Amino acid sequence: MAENRNGLTRVAFIGSECYPFIKTGGLGDVMYALPRALIKQGCEVRVIMPYYRCIPEKYKEMTTYKGNFMMDLCMDGRQFYVGIMEAEKDGVIYDFIDNREFFDWGNPYTGLWEDIPKYCFFSKAALAILNYMEWIPDVVHCHDWQAGLVPVYMRTLFAGTPIGEARSVLTIHNLRFQGICGIPHMKYWTGLPDYLFDYPVFKQNDDDANMFKAGLAFADRITTVSETYAEEIQTMFYGEGLNDHLWYHRTKLSGIVNGIDVEQWDAAADKLLTETYTADDVIEKKKLNKRALQEKLGLDVDDNKFVIGLISRLTDQKGLDLVNAVFERMLNEETQVVILGTGDPRYEGSFRYYESVHKGSVCAYIQYNEALAHQIYASSDALLVPSLFEPCGLTQLIAMRYGTVPIVRETGGLKDTVEPYNVETDEGNGFTFDRYEADLLLDAVERARDLFFDERGSWNAMVMRDMEKDVSWENSAGKYLKLYEELKG
Ligand code: ADP
Repeated sequence: MAENRNGLTRVAFIGSECYPFIKTGGLGDVMYALPRALIKQGCEVRVIMPYYRCIPEKYKEMTTYKGNFMMDLCMDGRQFYVGIMEAEKDGVIYDFIDNREFFDWGNPYTGLWEDIPKYCFFSKAALAILNYMEWIPDVVHCHDWQAGLVPVYMRTLFAGTPIGEARSVLTIHNLRFQGICGIPHMKYWTGLPDYLFDYPVFKQNDDDANMFKAGLAFADRITTVSETYAEEIQTMFYGEGLNDHLWYHRTKLSGIVNGIDVEQWDAAADKLLTETYTADDVIEKKKLNKRALQEKLGLDVDDNKFVIGLISRLTDQKGLDLVNAVFERMLNEETQVVILGTGDPRYEGSFRYYESVHKGSVCAYIQYNEALAHQIYASSDALLVPSLFEPCGLTQLIAMRYGTVPIVRETGGLKDTVEPYNVETDEGNGFTFDRYEADLLLDAVERARDLFFDERGSWNAMVMRDMEKDVSWENSAGKYLKLYEELKG
């Protein structure tokens, strides 16, 4: 491998979303925060993502045009335009791939039929622009299925080109989404040789091919976003059909837990809050924030209510069946529930229903709303994350950073980041339950509420402890850097 002139480790991040340009979930946060943390540890990082039409104009205005070329794609070698738009922010360089044919639709995702060609193009173009710009990283760090083809292309169509010399890491942020379609569709769009589709590398079954599966086979290393999830995905329950494949590749699989960007999420400097605060004045200031939130959302204004927040994509992954099963029992006259999320109509509908029959105690805000998310984190007493599975989960980390006690199911990163409260020692960061059962969720909520009302000193101590817990990227970024250095050799 060619030594970089300045000796710094060079990494190219390739992924489908990145805050603040476009974010639909935790992947967007990681694509933003990890590069910044790596820069602080002496890496050079570029982030490569699509130049979606839905990126807000104010961010598009930050970019400058860097060049273009035509690239072939597909089995018949059709030519497609690849434009490069570039922005720099806090030392991280963002290279956006411009192509109106692929990136003018969706928010940013459309549906698999269109998304498969979109991300075939993206994966190939991402490597092509690195060659074109002559910026060859030591490691290409790919994220989720949308960048799953990158390691495959590096070892096939790009072998023998400069970028083919780099090493690859593929990170699983969520194994549920894999990029699966019929073999002919995949063969056509990838333009990859036939023999790759004869083996279980690409093949999902006799009819279908799986982009993520192929990427996992070709990547030099696989990471996922918590140690527990790295173990879980090798089992049938969590493996989403790829458990055997991951078990087979287990020697190159490891878990590194996510952090959060502690500047982006900082109650002491958060302009979106009514009252900013630190661990020293959180108890008083949280009351003021709570009052402001209650007024804003039409809830009964009362400092003494136990306010439970839920900020989530509304999908079955997030344990919302459990919430629905115990909602009426969870809600008593001392409790208010605030839900912020969008997604599956059946959950949107049930939460709207609870709001309509419990006016003043329940608010279902069915929207994606960044500002309101900050206000709910700051104003709630507890945050509910009862997920069926959770690769890492960021909301519990943000909650702790804002002095909001997480109530979580012990799975994936939730298990690795929330230490259960221990009544004997008065230690811990939140309330947890293990099996996916509604009554266990209810029990955890009741334990939290009892502590809130009956042992306020212990509760307040936990709130302050949570605010002081290290949830930053520093430690984990160091682990990624170590991995890159191992790969560099
Ligand atoms: P996932 O990636 O599975 O959606 P994570 O917990 O890893 O879950 O990340 C979710 C991120 O998206 C957090 O930053 C959370 O605050 C944010 N988020 C989720 N839903 C909403 C919403 N409706 N409005 C604003 N932010 C949201």
